[in-house]
Amino acid sequence: MTMSDKPRALILGSGTSTGVPLIGCRCPVCTSADPKDSRLRSGVHVRWRGFSLQLDVSADFRQQALRFEIERIDALLITHAHADHLLGLDELRRFNTIQQCRIPAYGRNFTLKGVSNMFGYIFSPCPLQSELYRPQMDFIEIGDEAVQIGPFTVSSLIVPHGPTNSTAFKITCEGRSFIYAPDCSKVEEDFVNFMMEAECVMLDGLRDRPHKSHLTITDSIEALSRSRVKRGILTHIGHDLLHADIIKRLPPDIEPAYDGMEFEW
Ligand SMILES: [Zn+2]
Ligand SMILES: [Zn+2]
Ligand SMILES: [Zn+2]
Repeated sequence: MTMSDKPRALILGSGTSTGVPLIGCRCPVCTSADPKDSRLRSGVHVRWRGFSLQLDVSADFRQQALRFEIERIDALLITHAHADHLLGLDELRRFNTIQQCRIPAYGRNFTLKGVSNMFGYIFSPCPLQSELYRPQMDFIEIGDEAVQIGPFTVSSLIVPHGPTNSTAFKITCEGRSFIYAPDCSKVEEDFVNFMMEAECVMLDGLRDRPHKSHLTITDSIEALSRSRVKRGILTHIGHDLLHADIIKRLPPDIEPAYDGMEFEW
């Protein structure tokens, strides 16, 4: 058997900012026995040719790293500085120890500003605080130009996210692209072009009812089809719909994400 040389992605979390089940909720989704209805907060881990690239570090990141045996992170991409995508940042201390090195983290200017607001202790000079008590990170601002991160070519696009912005990342390997955009409220023309004919896109598909900061499932289906994306995966899913019910109504080239789902592109 020949080993595939394609990059492999593992979905660590497919849930919206509260996670599913919600604390104290007894709705049919929150009490579902189907493990695919248990949705931790957003994150994806990508591996290719020995390089491990982490997309977002959610509040559930420690639990996700243990569950999925993630033992290495060579670089981190951060979509935006909302708590559900970032509060796991402190857990990277453990990876500093394992790997005996600092870890580069990439984001747009507005994201890195948000990180420094939320994680002041990482940046503040504090001679009394041992370096062991904060993650050792090198934050690298990215713009419109693509950057090379290990074996990956990474480009990014700022997308609207309600009253603020988020980032869509495009990770390209040998001409094939995977796009990660878990938080987005409107797909404008530049985003349609950014996704055009990508192999795989993970896109915000919160629920059916409109939300000021997220796409509905119908919005997502329409955007993926306009961009002629080969494989669409809806993510950042709330507690409105059962996994089994979402699958039934999607076209064959689009599916809902679930925690632990793996794919290659
Ligand atoms: Zn989010
Ligand atoms: Zn619920
Ligand atoms: Zn967000």
